[in-house]
Amino acid sequence: MANFNMLWLQSSGCGGCTMSLLCAESPPLFEQLSWQGINLLWHPALSEASGQEVQSLLSDLEQGRESLDLLCIEGAVAQGPDGTGDFSRLPGTGRSMMSWLQGLSTRANYVVAVGSCAAYGGVSAGGDNPSDATGAQYAGERLGGLLGEAFRSRGGLPVINISGCPIHPQWVLESLASLVRGEMTLQDLDELGRPRSYTDHLVHHGCPRNEYYEYKASAQQHSQQGCLMEHLGCIGTQAHADCNIRLWNGGGSCLRGGYACINCTAPEFENPGYGFLSTPKVAGIPIGLPTDMPKAWFVALSSLSKAAMPARLRENALSDHQLMAPKIYYKNKRR
Ligand code: SF4
Ligand code: SF4
Repeated sequence: MANFNMLWLQSSGCGGCTMSLLCAESPPLFEQLSWQGINLLWHPALSEASGQEVQSLLSDLEQGRESLDLLCIEGAVAQGPDGTGDFSRLPGTGRSMMSWLQGLSTRANYVVAVGSCAAYGGVSAGGDNPSDATGAQYAGERLGGLLGEAFRSRGGLPVINISGCPIHPQWVLESLASLVRGEMTLQDLDELGRPRSYTDHLVHHGCPRNEYYEYKASAQQHSQQGCLMEHLGCIGTQAHADCNIRLWNGGGSCLRGGYACINCTAPEFENPGYGFLSTPKVAGIPIGLPTDMPKAWFVALSSLSKAAMPARLRENALSDHQLMAPKIYYKNKRR
């Protein structure tokens, strides 16, 4: 029986995280919520209720007349102009989204920021950030955001940042299951408040281009099969997520679709300071190297592995399909 009350609000974002959540499968979204005992009180895109009905619900939650187990925030919080939050109002309520989130977060047992906008500001806070958009408890890499560094929900946890642009549906549903069972602790979150269930991995783990990476057999243009790190902007070796282990939509990932990893689960990914699909270099060496390896070692090993690159990988890396198959190994020499 559903008894874990969840409210979902959309602030300054594109709605893409909800779109991605709807791609949950085996079983689909509403079945998973039901199985977990989650009662979705309201979601602006998925619920029928509107107008006065919603306003009454929000007031009841804010005043404590109805219990709020989980507040999910999707999208950044617009604080402008001049700290009023009026750039983003919740229609019909006469109040800013910022004001509702501040009020409701004090009543919730848990607060979850769904997506990198809600977690850190994300794309909504990119560039000059004219709306003064911020994350729920972070402003980019800095703790603070809307609710402040010291915020703890009634359940004793900081805002849980399920970052990603968008989120993988199972990152969210798995985290919700953990909250419903009361199993999520501080130790289950990483230094940026993200569930370690998906951020204790790198996007590089399980990438089908790993063999090319080993030999630095690099693609030089999109559609080619080689590793995208050296020329085409991939930072999967630094990006925390399990995208190539827990696949998307039944079998995909950015890398499998031929697109470089841009580290969308990280704060400030939206402002890399260079084009997403090009690799910035100094003296021909990529500046964004794996974080857990000395640069000098990386450069030395890269030179060696390039020198040892099998012809098969050299050929295939620059092609959009396999030109050379791996050789067959025979135990006994053949004539
Ligand atoms: S995190 Fe990305 S997908 Fe989600 S709301 Fe923000 S911009 Fe859209
Ligand atoms: S394309 Fe990116 S994620 Fe894949 S092997 Fe190369 S560096 Fe790693």
